[in-house]
Amino acid sequence: MVDYRSEQAHTIVLFRDILKRYGLECLEWELAVFKKTLEKDLKTSVASLNLHKIMAAISVADTDRFWNDWHVFHFVTQCLNNNVPVASHIQDFSVGELMVSVDIANSIRRELGKVSHVPEFSDEIAKFIAAQALEAGVWFLPNPLEFAQPYAAKRTCVCKDCGNHQDYIEKNDKICYVCTEKYDTESLKNFKADRSKLLKGKGTNTVIIEKNPIKGVASILDKYLMGSIEEFDINADSICAAKIVVGLEYLTMRRKQLQEQT
Ligand SMILES: [Zn+2]
Repeated sequence: MVDYRSEQAHTIVLFRDILKRYGLECLEWELAVFKKTLEKDLKTSVASLNLHKIMAAISVADTDRFWNDWHVFHFVTQCLNNNVPVASHIQDFSVGELMVSVDIANSIRRELGKVSHVPEFSDEIAKFIAAQALEAGVWFLPNPLEFAQPYAAKRTCVCKDCGNHQDYIEKNDKICYVCTEKYDTESLKNFKADRSKLLKGKGTNTVIIEKNPIKGVASILDKYLMGSIEEFDINADSICAAKIVVGLEYLTMRRKQLQEQT
């Protein structure tokens, strides 16, 4: 029996329960309808935070905006972390809260099975998550936040011929946009590198630099998780790894909470 009065009720547990009770049709309902219907059927009060969590779960199930609109991501992330949402000013999220939000949203989509799919996160959300993590002093993002890693590490491709700096997110970014006139607004060549220039070897004399190197943090985190170190030193990489551990522990705790309530 789901305890709708408890603010600790897990979003996924609430979501499963409303689907079981009312079917897919209830995905159209508004908050006030849930409140009235649940209170009538359960003969008990429903915590208003739980109504927000239900609406957050529905928004995640129903549209892809969580994966591509940072305003929606920001709002829903508060609900999925058991906080009453505020839209008026930007909340600072911990790495753990970001992990939990992404984890729950992806799980909701997976639960829907064949009638749905798990979307990929847009650059906008990846940048938002990276900015939040950097603000919290974390620049290495393991799963489920790995997609935001290039932005957190601030990977840049530097052209040794013309000196151009460009974001390095994927393989294609290894070719200098300037030397190959990729974004030449006069010719508007579909924003593709000029092939003749590429064939002459232009734009390929590049090097990738990482403003926030992740190797050190990744290695410390690995050692800690494998049990070969028990404590963290006092240096930037170790402190970053320690913060990630706090995040991973929170994620594990929330996953356990879901199992316990299932
Ligand atoms: Zn160049």
